[in-house]
Amino acid sequence: MTQQEYEVLIIGAGPAGVAAAYLCHQQGISYLLIESGKRVFQGIATTYPAGKNVFPSRPKDSEEPFRVTALQPPDKPVTVEKYLQYVEHFVEHEELNLQLETQFEDVQEERQGYLVSTSKGALRVKRIILSFGSSIPKELTVYGDAKMVAKTLDDPKKYIGMRTLVIGGGNTAADVISSILRAKREAEDDQPVYWAHIAATFDVNKETAQRLGEEILLGGHVRLLPGAQPRIGEVDKYGVDRLVIRTSEVRQSDGIEIYNALSFPMQNVLACIGSQGPLPVFDKLGLQSIACTEGVCRVAKEGDRLLLLTADFESTRKGIYVIGGGISPSFMCISGSSIQERKHPNLIHTAINDAYTVVIAIREKIDGELSKQ
Ligand SMILES: Cc1cc2nc3c(=O)[nH]c(=O)nc-3n(C[C@H](O)[C@H](O)[C@H](O)COP(=O)(O)OP(=O)(O)OC[C@H]3O[C@@H](n4cnc5c(N)ncnc54)[C@H](O)[C@@H]3O)c2cc1C
Repeated sequence: MTQQEYEVLIIGAGPAGVAAAYLCHQQGISYLLIESGKRVFQGIATTYPAGKNVFPSRPKDSEEPFRVTALQPPDKPVTVEKYLQYVEHFVEHEELNLQLETQFEDVQEERQGYLVSTSKGALRVKRIILSFGSSIPKELTVYGDAKMVAKTLDDPKKYIGMRTLVIGGGNTAADVISSILRAKREAEDDQPVYWAHIAATFDVNKETAQRLGEEILLGGHVRLLPGAQPRIGEVDKYGVDRLVIRTSEVRQSDGIEIYNALSFPMQNVLACIGSQGPLPVFDKLGLQSIACTEGVCRVAKEGDRLLLLTADFESTRKGIYVIGGGISPSFMCISGSSIQERKHPNLIHTAINDAYTVVIAIREKIDGELSKQ
């Protein structure tokens, strides 16, 4: 195998992905774990409030132990910061094959497996474990391509010395702006932050507004763009990816439109427009789901679409497995000739134990393939 070929590609380094990587490592299966964020457990680092305790909760009625005890949150709960520190140390100590800041983009079927495109290039793999959790940042919808636009604030200092555009009307956008303003203030940079929202009003809670207000009073430059609409993603004549955002629009009676627009290099733009469940990604990959009809589902509501998986978490595309929070709170399990909704609580325990089931199933498949050769 060349450097870019692996038996298994694991997408998302949360509890499910890290456990899968560790188990592949133990089983001698070649693998790569990719993570879009800057660190392992990025999903947890982003969503848990600072200082929150992490509990080793198990699903009700489950006696099953944590299948990777090293990743189990301690029985006497510790803060999220401590837990993350411990996990980072574990990943380093085990020398897991991890590539950070690598976003999964698409999959193409090949004779021997899959060609996966990521933000850092393509990889050839036989099997894929999707462990990217339940919260996928929404993409901007514009004519052209806006993939270069950041969706999380990794480092506010990155925006020092540049006019920055933050898109989104809620608390996340407001918090991101406060952090960028603070970094700019500390660096004595007076380049403004433009705050654009598609609606006419912004919707921020009191505490967030107070934080932002404080930064503005301390000298932060914010230019509000209510009613602004991202329109076009394009590459300019210098090869720079740019985002064009329409800031005002007047339609005359003769049909002519007069509008103003701003164009920002995409590296100056952050889109905080919320997150969505993983279903659109599953659809894009062609993984089958089933809509719940009345009386069939106990956890999901009528009309909800649930992913169709085997008891080993293999999807309807051979060799593509889905584990962890991405399939919570329930999925449709194919077993023999029947299909039934199966509960799947969104817990660290479930994510880790899914990884165990999948890696053991993959090991058996590989052994089966080898014995036929
Ligand atoms: C506030 C809060 C508190 C919680 N407290 C507890 C608790 O105390 N105990 C407990 O058991 N559970 C708790 N949970 C639930 C628990 O955090 C989840 O069940 C668990 O994180 C799911 O793990 P996962 O690996 O499936 O997904 P995640 O932890 O979401 O990890 C997915 C990873 O994939 C990455 N990713 C996403 N998209 C891509 C992409 N396209 N390419 C590459 N990487 C990608 C993400 O950055 C992320 O790091 C809590 C959840 C929340 C929100």
